[in-house]
Amino acid sequence: MSAYVAPLKDMKFAMKELAGLGEVGKLPGYEEATPDTVDAILEEASKFSSQVLDPLNYSGDLEGSRWSDGAVSTPKGFKEAYRKYVEGGWAALPFGAEWGGQGLPKLVATAVEEMLTSANMSFSLCPLLTQGAIHALELAGSQALQKTFLGKMVAGDWTGTMNLTEPQAGSDLALVRSKAVPEGDHYRISGQKIFITYGEHDLAENIVHLVLARTPDAPEGVKGISLFVVPKFLVKPDGSLGERNGARCASIEHKLGIHASPTAVMVYENAVGFLVGEENKGLAYMFIMMNAARFSVGLEGVAISERAFQRALAYARERVQGRDLNGGGTVPIIRHPDVRRMLMLMKSQTEAMRALAYVVAAALDVAARHPDEKMRQQNQAFVDLMIPVVKGWSTETGIEVASLGVQVHGGMGFIEETGAAQHLRDARITTIYEGTTGIQANDLVGRKIAREGGATAKAWLEHLKAFDAELAKSGNADLKAIRGALAAGAAAVGESVDYIVAHAGKDVMATFAGAVPFLKLMGVVAGGWQMARAALAAEKNLRSGDKAFFEAKLATARFYADQVLVQAPALRDTVVKGASAVMTIPDDAMLAA
Ligand SMILES: Cc1cc2nc3c(=O)[nH]c(=O)nc-3n(C[C@H](O)[C@H](O)[C@H](O)COP(=O)(O)OP(=O)(O)OC[C@H]3O[C@@H](n4cnc5c(N)ncnc54)[C@H](O)[C@@H]3O)c2cc1C
Repeated sequence: MSAYVAPLKDMKFAMKELAGLGEVGKLPGYEEATPDTVDAILEEASKFSSQVLDPLNYSGDLEGSRWSDGAVSTPKGFKEAYRKYVEGGWAALPFGAEWGGQGLPKLVATAVEEMLTSANMSFSLCPLLTQGAIHALELAGSQALQKTFLGKMVAGDWTGTMNLTEPQAGSDLALVRSKAVPEGDHYRISGQKIFITYGEHDLAENIVHLVLARTPDAPEGVKGISLFVVPKFLVKPDGSLGERNGARCASIEHKLGIHASPTAVMVYENAVGFLVGEENKGLAYMFIMMNAARFSVGLEGVAISERAFQRALAYARERVQGRDLNGGGTVPIIRHPDVRRMLMLMKSQTEAMRALAYVVAAALDVAARHPDEKMRQQNQAFVDLMIPVVKGWSTETGIEVASLGVQVHGGMGFIEETGAAQHLRDARITTIYEGTTGIQANDLVGRKIAREGGATAKAWLEHLKAFDAELAKSGNADLKAIRGALAAGAAAVGESVDYIVAHAGKDVMATFAGAVPFLKLMGVVAGGWQMARAALAAEKNLRSGDKAFFEAKLATARFYADQVLVQAPALRDTVVKGASAVMTIPDDAMLAA
């Protein structure tokens, strides 16, 4: 079975040449992120991922987490791996020194997170949720709450969860019913939450649940939701653990994938909870967690794609079957044009998604730290536009890539022991949790395009126009072809944005019926933009560095332009023409045999 090897060359290329690691390192507070330090961190993360997490991925899937009498045991080896994760300081990487963090840029943390997730997605979910909870407390928690919880959570000694979902409240959180009754300096929380990732486990001594609930006289809908911290064990004034709180894990789910990650049904019975921020503003605070988590789930799409690609590539080089089309004897399947097509679809889309995710991570750093307010605002607007794209497009594509990975393996892909099937099963959740693709697309079309008249998207298209002028200077045949495909893609985005802005107010059903194709179009073109930038950088470096890597990058970018970016005009047609048809079909006609 193939072992995970972090694609450090491509990661470093994306960080340095595309995401501007050099500039990020100059931002106030990020001075520690020198090239040498970053290289050393990436090397160590790569070792930890390959040596500690990857060997537990398959066994963890087979064994799964187990529930017994309210307690959850994670699979063999997970506790030890988590201890090493904490001791290695990995939990503290992206957080400020105030709480014991290492204060490294999001860009660096993103590359590390990709490696942990590629190696073992089930394991990586625990840190993912903890980081979201830390962000929410950092931004909205009182000083007292921060003091009680943040140090332990940043260190990784305590983990965090996000408790939104209830049986009747999934995508629509307006329907949340859990109750929070004030009592002195705290509240009493009651209700049932379902699907809570790492809601109960044996990796850490305490679990800090962030829970959405309603106070007794709260208004209906999303305006009446508040956010509470509900620890598994109450914390004494000296910081030590006190009595067990009224938060209990009633069961865990049996799932299609991520078997090692416990998905808990949580029951809160008069549990002591502490308000985060102000009453009735819970959803806004939860969005802080959700945006960070949405980005991370998008990154899961990248990570699973990379892992599925590595496995398929290794298999394709070994498996001998069929004869060389050019004549001769039997060959490894990697020699067959269709297998090469599948592998290149996997590779090129993975690299495009990685590049976009890293560029968005760098924009998050600039938005947080740049001294110039205008730069901060511009980058935040770009991040807001791209987060649903990173989440929706990278996860949908991640499933396609993992499915191609199964296909490359032939029948053995369907058999669990190769590991290819696990990637497909694990990938399947990524388009569902943290907001389904439909919800991401609604956010993109409604909040990020229609509400502001397409302003940020148009600013991005202007940027693409300026970049086109740069591409035009190259005489390289691949770059010429890439330029043509990117220009057609940008035009397709522009026409779709105009359509959405013109129709969102008057034909809302038809506009939103095209939301997911529009999200895909944005991803395909944004990925094409990054691959074009990568190709340009590769062409410039061809004679100065790692020739084989840069030649491969040019060829991969050309493949992406010819096979993926070329889909953009058809996606535009789905947005502007095909979408309205969805709404004209009567419900009954869908039932017709
Ligand atoms: C393994 C796993 C882990 C999870 N972890 C957590 C967690 O840690 N914390 C937590 O709070 N939740 C968690 N969830 C819950 C997850 O976030 C929800 O399942 C998800 O938000 C979808 O909600 P739902 O399942 O109720 O589907 P529904 O909301 O019922 O959606 C069903 C379908 O309808 C579509 N749909 C619904 N509304 C709209 C709309 N307005 N426009 C267009 N389409 C729409 C959806 O896209 C979907 O295709 C987890 C779920 C799973 C399975």
